[in-house]
Amino acid sequence: MLEIRDLFKTYDNKPLLRGISFSVSKGETICLLGASGSGKSTLLRMVAGLEFPESGLILLNGIDLAQTPPHLRDFGLVFQDYGLFPHLNIFENIAFGLRMRNVPAETIKPRVAEMLDLVNLQGFENRKVTDLSGGEQQRVALARALAPSPRLLMFDEPLGALDKSLKEDLLNQIRAILHKTKIPAIYVTHDQDEAFTIADRILFLHDGEIIRDGTPDEVWTNPKSAWVARMLGMGNVVEGRMQKAEGRMWNVTTDFGSFNVGCKHRHSVGEKVSLLVKQSGEGDELKLKVEDVLFKRDQFEVQTKNGLVIHMKEAPKVGEIIRVKVQIECLA
Ligand code: ADP
Ligand code: MG
Repeated sequence: MLEIRDLFKTYDNKPLLRGISFSVSKGETICLLGASGSGKSTLLRMVAGLEFPESGLILLNGIDLAQTPPHLRDFGLVFQDYGLFPHLNIFENIAFGLRMRNVPAETIKPRVAEMLDLVNLQGFENRKVTDLSGGEQQRVALARALAPSPRLLMFDEPLGALDKSLKEDLLNQIRAILHKTKIPAIYVTHDQDEAFTIADRILFLHDGEIIRDGTPDEVWTNPKSAWVARMLGMGNVVEGRMQKAEGRMWNVTTDFGSFNVGCKHRHSVGEKVSLLVKQSGEGDELKLKVEDVLFKRDQFEVQTKNGLVIHMKEAPKVGEIIRVKVQIECLA
């Protein structure tokens, strides 16, 4: 098991990562989801041993890796730009890590063939890197990373350079291979669709910290933070003010009315809170005045006077009052 414990990393006196802790178990794929510049690649480079934190520990099966150089960590890396050796053919690219470990030639040959089989590129041994499409190159990069049976696989936005249709295909292949080999993996992306497809557990990286950690299902049903709810486009995130409580039921006022919201957090009277307003078949009914209507694929996105955005099958008229049922949750 890989365990990251309280990592801190600073660049130019600015904290980039602050107290990052998580673990990856055998057979588990965790996904680090964060905006560009949030420190995802830096975190991976530290796990790989290519860069060092100011403080914190990286442990593998309880052993601190601080003194273990990158090539002795036995971790496989797959990058966005493939990083294949252009002067070597496909066979030699995949054999590279095995040769570095002095694996005998008679073992290397069938192992390379096995890896090509796994990524669906049977018979590609003698091809040149430059003759391959982007998707094929990335599959070779994956085969190269897998060949030495790494103890951990790390993916840094591996689909970033590929077309949309190819992306989906390759993502499903990676997912199948990770399930089959049971190699623990850290998959880094800024794309939430990718994260929800591949992850057993998603970690949201924001402002240097992991602000939410859970299975895709847990995160979707309970985002727990305004930032996560916004990032996932789950509904309207609005401000409310707590008025009074009866047990766990709070009365909260908003720009579009006052409501009773069940809430497990601790709040005080007058406190400002973030609320998630989700359209729903049942719940509180709102009357909202239409300000603008935008066509969005199979539905209409309706901007209302109170700032809420509502989705409707039929386009209302600007100025019209619409009735919408919503569920309101307190985010924190
Ligand atoms: P991400 O992969 O999430 O896009 P990175 O880890 O590549 O983010 O980088 C996060 C930020 O850290 C960058 O915006 C940059 O300002 C800073 N950074 C990364 N590497 C260095 C470096 N070697 N020297 C100085 N600053 C760096
Ligand atoms: Mg990056």
